[in-house]
Amino acid sequence: MLITKDKHQFAMDKNSVPVTQIDLPCKLTFETLDCFSEQINCAQDTIESLNFDRVNPASGPVYLNKVKAGDIISVNIRDIRVNSPGKMIAAPGAGVLANLITTSETLIVPIENGIASFKNLELPLTPMIGVIGVAPQGDPIACGIPGSHGGNMDTTLIKPGSTLYLPVQVDGALFALGDLHAVMGDGEIMVSGIEVSGEVDVTITKANDIEIKNPLIKTDLLLAFIASAETLDQAIETATREMAEFLTKYTDLTINEAGMLMSACGSAQICQIVDPLKTARFAMPLDVLRKLGISIAF
Ligand code: CA
Ligand code: CA
Repeated sequence: MLITKDKHQFAMDKNSVPVTQIDLPCKLTFETLDCFSEQINCAQDTIESLNFDRVNPASGPVYLNKVKAGDIISVNIRDIRVNSPGKMIAAPGAGVLANLITTSETLIVPIENGIASFKNLELPLTPMIGVIGVAPQGDPIACGIPGSHGGNMDTTLIKPGSTLYLPVQVDGALFALGDLHAVMGDGEIMVSGIEVSGEVDVTITKANDIEIKNPLIKTDLLLAFIASAETLDQAIETATREMAEFLTKYTDLTINEAGMLMSACGSAQICQIVDPLKTARFAMPLDVLRKLGISIAF
């Protein structure tokens, strides 16, 4: 089933009217606008011309039949197809280099045959999803904000071949996604990756054999807990603690042993450090988890 890009929302909201209802397991294709809702189309369209009420659209939401609050869904990302051109911005006061940027600039990035042309530099595409999640239990959360419901996690691991596990907070989940990046580095330090519209193919199933409170991502190489908080320190601490709890729950490791194993071969990583809340992850190699005998869902 195709979810077209004209059906989108700017907040994850339990009161959003679903664009469709579907039984699990399901295969869906989401067509997405870029994060600017296509308001930036040439180098003269700078950030000052943006209507910020229309930033970070997420296509959907989709109501997942028989999915209840408290369930876990797994979202396998089968493919991401990005459109040309990509768009990047620099803006005074925005991002990690905020104080060094004195003028606004928009860069239009042509994309062809798996390559993004950043001026004369050819960059291989690393397509990923910036905004993906479910409706929160409480007040609506703008699509620009990440949290335990997912949202604007801007995590480079949310890419083709990966599976994202999300804790469902309201019946039907109200799943939505958007904010594709053709190329983005960890941190998203200038607040934009190479922003694109495009299409995403996903398969959604229930995954009630695991218990998680925050999003969990599995790639072909690793498993990582994703957490968002006011500061990067808090986000890393939460993600690290969740991995430690996961290891002590599903293996016979003590907390000391789990911590030492994580310190030996795990990795605390930055997702993004420019959104209203910061997002970090703690990753463990899948081969180590397999050696530990953790088989649930993996
Ligand atoms: Ca984003
Ligand atoms: Ca973005």
